[in-house]
This record gives sequence, structure tokens and C-alpha cells, in this order.
Amino acid sequence: MYTTIPTCIVCPTCGAALDWAPGTPTHAVDCRSGHRFPVHGGVIDLLGAPRPQSIAAWSNEWRITAWAYERLWRPRSLSILSGQPFPYSRELPAVAAAIPNDAHVILDLACSNGLYARTAALQRPQATVIGIDRSLPMLIDAQRRATAAQLAITYVRADARALPLATASVDCTLIGGSLNEMEDLPRIWAEVTRISTPTATFYSMHLLRTGAHSPRLLGLGGITLFGADDIPTALTHAGWSLTDRQQTGIVQTIRALRRS
Ligand SMILES: [Zn+2]
Repeated sequence: MYTTIPTCIVCPTCGAALDWAPGTPTHAVDCRSGHRFPVHGGVIDLLGAPRPQSIAAWSNEWRITAWAYERLWRPRSLSILSGQPFPYSRELPAVAAAIPNDAHVILDLACSNGLYARTAALQRPQATVIGIDRSLPMLIDAQRRATAAQLAITYVRADARALPLATASVDCTLIGGSLNEMEDLPRIWAEVTRISTPTATFYSMHLLRTGAHSPRLLGLGGITLFGADDIPTALTHAGWSLTDRQQTGIVQTIRALRRS
């Protein structure tokens, strides 16, 4: 449910702004150079055919995964992984608190069903909220949930290693659990830093390999578990200052501020 495409979303081929393609309202977008991309279920697809590279990424391409993920797994996941009660009522207020009051553009990166994007849209109703993921079934489910909740969120299918977002355009980036599934993290840091404004904030919830409840299964299928200092160190090297760091079992949350 949106009528204009946020100006920070750009053509992945030439970098120009995108708009609804003439004669195909809400079914395609194009740039002024004529590069055209389809829209499926309200999701702008800038990626083309699915090309997941790990088992975890493949499972996200399945419709059943999209259906089950937020209905069955996600509400219980942090309690199971941390070994103590960790419901949404504990997780999401921390996400909301990480969003600055003056954030105009908020990105939920690798958003799955858009849990953090909806949290952002509820917290900052006037802001532009964008959710990006590689899985079309997940994104279509996310769009459906946003529409049902009457939240204006723009969902885009794209690769986190080559974000179709203008340089210095995003005020706050949120990542909920997806760093563990991403390939080529140095490129992710470079892209997140490129798209961020000079005073941008960053929030990530991700899983560590330390702790008493570290499940061996997660080491399989393209999920990487981090050491406790891995993400803080990478962020610091990418030009960010850590402002908060929490750990509950194997669940770590990080807040950071860009050093301009
Ligand atoms: Zn173009």
C-alpha cells in the first residue's frame, strides 16, 4: 500500500530514480533510461530469477518457509536460542528504541516477513520504511502483513551486497538475525556504510557461537555463528562507533552510530 516510490530507491543498472512504468501501474517500474523491472504482489523485484547460494538461502525461497517462518518459528526463536524467555514483547521495544526520532528513511535489511520493518513503521509513522530481501515469497508475505496492518512499507527484492539505494540516503538500518545468513560480509558493511547518512544509526540482532545453548545444527546450511567481538570489530573497521551491546545466551544485539 504505497503510491509513490521512495526517491532513494534507484535502478540497479544505471542508478537513476525509479517510477511506475507507464501503462502498467503497480505492475512494473522503470527508470528514465528504460530499464524495466516487474512488481509482484506489491513487491518491486530488482533481482530477477532466484539465485540463492546456501541451504538457508534456498529454504527462504520456498513458499512454505515464508508461511511458517513468522507464524511458527520467529515468535519462539529467540527464547529457544537464548535459553530464556525472549518474546516479541522483549525483542521489539529494543528495536523501536534503536530508531532515532528524526530518522526519515529506515531500512529493514534482509527483512524476511518484515517484522522489524513493521516495528519501524509503527514507531515512526511519518518515516519512509523500506524492507529488502532476496526471497520473493518472504517479501510478498511481508507486503501482505503490512497491508493488513495498514502500514506503508516499500518492499524491494534485491541483494544486500549491491543495494539499489542512493548513497547517503538511509538514516537507520535494522538487521534482525540475517547477518548469520549473509555471504561476503565485507561487501555488506561497505554497502550499509555507503547508503547511510553521516549521522545514521545501525541495529543488529544476531547469533553467537558462544554460550551454553549454542545449537550445533545452526553451523550447517549456510548459517554462520559469530564470536562475541566479530560484529563489533567489523562495524568499527567500517567506520561506525558502538553505542550499545547486549548479550542473552547466544543472542547478541548491537547498536552503532556512523562516524562521519
Ligand atoms: Zn536504469
